[in-house]
Amino acid sequence: MASIFSDVKMGPTIEVFALTRRYNEDTCPEKVNLGVGAYRTDEGKPWVLPMVTQVERQMALDPTLNHEYLPVAGLPAFRAAACRLMLGSDNPAILENRVEGIQVQGGTGGIRLAIEFLKRNMDSKVAYVSNPTWGNHKTIASSAGLEVRQYRYWHPKELKVDFNGLVEDLKAAPEGAVIILHAVAHNPTGIDLTMSQWKEVADIMQKRKLFPLMDCAYQGFASGDLDADAEAVRYFVQRGFELFICQSFSKNFGLYNERIGNLCIVTKTPEVIPQIRSQMEIICRTIWSNPSHHGARIVATILDNPASYQEWKQQVMTMATRIKEMRKMMCSKLRQKKTPGSWNHILEQIGMFSFTGLSADQVRIMVEKYHIYMLSNGRISMAGLTTKNVDYVVDAIHDAIEAT
Ligand code: PLP
Repeated sequence: MASIFSDVKMGPTIEVFALTRRYNEDTCPEKVNLGVGAYRTDEGKPWVLPMVTQVERQMALDPTLNHEYLPVAGLPAFRAAACRLMLGSDNPAILENRVEGIQVQGGTGGIRLAIEFLKRNMDSKVAYVSNPTWGNHKTIASSAGLEVRQYRYWHPKELKVDFNGLVEDLKAAPEGAVIILHAVAHNPTGIDLTMSQWKEVADIMQKRKLFPLMDCAYQGFASGDLDADAEAVRYFVQRGFELFICQSFSKNFGLYNERIGNLCIVTKTPEVIPQIRSQMEIICRTIWSNPSHHGARIVATILDNPASYQEWKQQVMTMATRIKEMRKMMCSKLRQKKTPGSWNHILEQIGMFSFTGLSADQVRIMVEKYHIYMLSNGRISMAGLTTKNVDYVVDAIHDAIEAT
């Protein structure tokens, strides 16, 4: 007998998770996973940050903790600490009580909540995403019912930001459009705007009344310095924008599967905060009802204790530094081999990813011949490179370029 589900269409695969599955099933001893955006040690292993382990041990022994529901908007200590990390504790917006945080399911949950709120309460109809961008931006915005448009970001020939294109597209955006901006370490290109470019973007957005939705998934990963990586966000706040910032703690705390994020809301006046929060709570209540405790408690405990905070900062620096070292090593080896191209872009790019410039055909060679898994747009996760596999990866890139 036929199932009532027989006519359900097969959905498209999610590339990055399909790659990981293929990688896990691959028996080739040389295989390398440069697909997933998760930190790896030089042994190619996931890293539980020692500071996180320490807090988890304390939590296991703490008799005051329980499994009661959290408030719908999340753990208050976590929300406050996350906003302080993003904006700086002496930020006038915080001191004037114009900031609120809502605990969300990772950066993804924050973007979805923000867009749902904007659609329901601000009548937002259009969201702009950079071209290219993290694959989920488009699907989150369109699932929430917004029309998705792109603003130019990357010049594929010159391997740099297409700033003239970006400016032209923002100037043409309709009033009230939601502009999703990568706060730091643009995914997938690894190239951020300079501060003078951010200033120009802020000028246009203020003039055209565009709404900044800042996606901050990599605070600390770009430079190793949490404050430096918050510069663009803090600049927008200083300019007087009302805006939302979607913070993810997946990467900088290594808490990928705890789904911990904060939607940081900045307004012009404190009076509007309770009404925004109440509308956000209604949305949370109908999707996940109450957030989970574990990740929020870890982040809050570390951020609220000066000694733990210093130690964690060092551990973020350790991750950022290893990634930078891999950039240098890969670039110098490609140059030594005289692989066609300058490879400057590998050094100039920041954060977890490199947009290598490899074509889809070259990527196919990397995957099929060398068992090196990477996205078809040429993006690699630098965290997947190690001192042991970098020569193999460089040889494969050289061969893929020579063969095409
Ligand atoms: N935004 C960007 C640009 C990302 O790269 C990612 C994760 O890869 C996210 C958001 C989502 O982060 P999370 O895993 O916390 O949902």
